[in-house]
Amino acid sequence: MKLFEPVLSLIYPPKCLLCQDFLPKGTVDLCPFCQRRQPEYTARFPQIPFLHHRLAVWYYEIDVRASLVRFKFYKKRHYAKGYARFLGAKILRELSGKFDVIVYVPVSRRRKQERGYDQVKILARALSRELKVPVVHALKKIRHTPPQSGMKTEAERKANVLGAYRVRKPKSIAGKRVLLIDDIITTGATISECARMLLSADAAVVHGAAVAAARTDNNFYRENDHATFFQRPGR
Ligand SMILES: [Zn+2]
Repeated sequence: MKLFEPVLSLIYPPKCLLCQDFLPKGTVDLCPFCQRRQPEYTARFPQIPFLHHRLAVWYYEIDVRASLVRFKFYKKRHYAKGYARFLGAKILRELSGKFDVIVYVPVSRRRKQERGYDQVKILARALSRELKVPVVHALKKIRHTPPQSGMKTEAERKANVLGAYRVRKPKSIAGKRVLLIDDIITTGATISECARMLLSADAAVVHGAAVAAARTDNNFYRENDHATFFQRPGR
């Protein structure tokens, strides 16, 4: 496949992940402009129940949002490789040596049939190659849920995903330190529910990482919820 890459890049010259401009020679993933003004996630990440460490590469806004929409709905599957490079670099800076396996937040079977692929699974595989850590297909979405973006309140988001995921291979994560990944974290309700399930199947700890996360001012997990954060859910 390597042999054909130069030929492929003549037919499909590589474009910037964020703004879609053609990439000047010698640059990868981002054009010089986006390299300078990429909305790097720099704030202290808000607490999310059941997740220990949390991180994201970018804020979920403007070009990042458009890029993830192309990845998710418009078949730009190859973005996974670029996302994984940024995500992998940040994970190595903040979580190096702190996890044994990668688990991803899966889509429902119906959603996969509509789109033809599970974008987070593709991202997980790219990240696995980047970090040399295995992916475990530990979660299954057992109930189709309406999109979280359509939920009006925080309580609705939480209720929408409650019990929507099941652990498929409990043995493969028992005692393991899990890096749980998703493409986007908005309020954290989905990734929190997945982490809860992994902990109830005896994962040692769950860290969360995403390509992008919403700004924190509308996050519904407040500081005073702290007491519930790292507790194991009841069996
Ligand atoms: Zn750009």
